[in-house]
Amino acid sequence: MKIIERQFSIGTDRRNEMIDITRQVASVVSESGIADGDVVIYCPHTTAAVTINENADASVPRDILLTLESLIPHDNPGYRHSEGNSDAHAKSSVVGCSRQVLIKGRTLVLGTWQGIFFCEFDGPRSRKVHVQVRGQ
Ligand code: ZN
Repeated sequence: MKIIERQFSIGTDRRNEMIDITRQVASVVSESGIADGDVVIYCPHTTAAVTINENADASVPRDILLTLESLIPHDNPGYRHSEGNSDAHAKSSVVGCSRQVLIKGRTLVLGTWQGIFFCEFDGPRSRKVHVQVRGQ
């Protein structure tokens, strides 16, 4: 089994934002030469996340962010964390900091409407994404 790891940086522009990183992940897979296996997309941050969802209609990521904001508001008098970004930490844990996608025939096994998103919950910031491709 071959393992290839790469990382790339993302500059986010807003406090809450979902950025389509499907193309960056697909290019790491393509350059790896691995035809069958899987890829892990991981972000090493406590106030960001990685998810998979629809990337055809831009209203979908917008509505996901709206839903997260209504479930986990920025201001909650019960928060104790002194940095003032408890909502971002909670959103990061709820969404999760990594995803795994299968690779078949050198391409990502994604549905027609699926894309991979980096989720920013405490931007704007400079962020890192790690991509590890495993297989043969
Ligand atoms: Zn914090």
